[in-house]
Amino acid sequence: MPLVRAYIALGSNLGDRLGQMQSALKALAADDRLKVLQISPVYENCAVGMGEANDFLNAMVGVETSMAPLALLDYCLEVESQLGRVSKGEWAPRSIDLDIIAYGDEIIEHERLKVPHPRIAERDFVVHPLCAIAPNLEILGQSIAHLAASLPMDRLKLYELKLEIV
Ligand code: ATP
Ligand code: CA
Ligand code: CA
Repeated sequence: MPLVRAYIALGSNLGDRLGQMQSALKALAADDRLKVLQISPVYENCAVGMGEANDFLNAMVGVETSMAPLALLDYCLEVESQLGRVSKGEWAPRSIDLDIIAYGDEIIEHERLKVPHPRIAERDFVVHPLCAIAPNLEILGQSIAHLAASLPMDRLKLYELKLEIV
């Protein structure tokens, strides 16, 4: 398999948010079919529409992988369940959420996997972390820097702690 550059979004709004994101990153990096090349800063984001839920922490990682797209999805779902993600409801609080945002420049319309992730452009908590590591990446004909310029950043706060490759 050729190596493909992919971007994976990490989010958590339940429990030890940063600790779970760090554990997810460590689990991703532990597979020798995947190498973590870039890690964005961590952002804190109000969980709008989720009632009393905690605020989210969000970040983005750039990876190089030999996994095929569905294998990468399955691996992300496996890491989520290893970390004890139980809640499946839409907008429900979650200990960890891993979304594949882009996989090379492939467009994937599978029932289990849509790439580029369909709701990128409207999500400040996806676009701004991605812009921090890949401003020139083009998604569906638009650069991430361009998408970021049209999305306010006022609901996102830079979080004081960072993720690291350990
Ligand atoms: P959203 O995708 O709007 O951020 P969510 O992350 O809350 O919603 P989940 O409950 O985590 O949604 O995932 C539901 C399903 O979404 C997964 O089991 C997976 O099959 C599917 N899915 C489709 N496209 C993707 C993608 N690009 N990355 C991750 N999961 C995806
Ligand atoms: Ca998500
Ligand atoms: Ca998800």
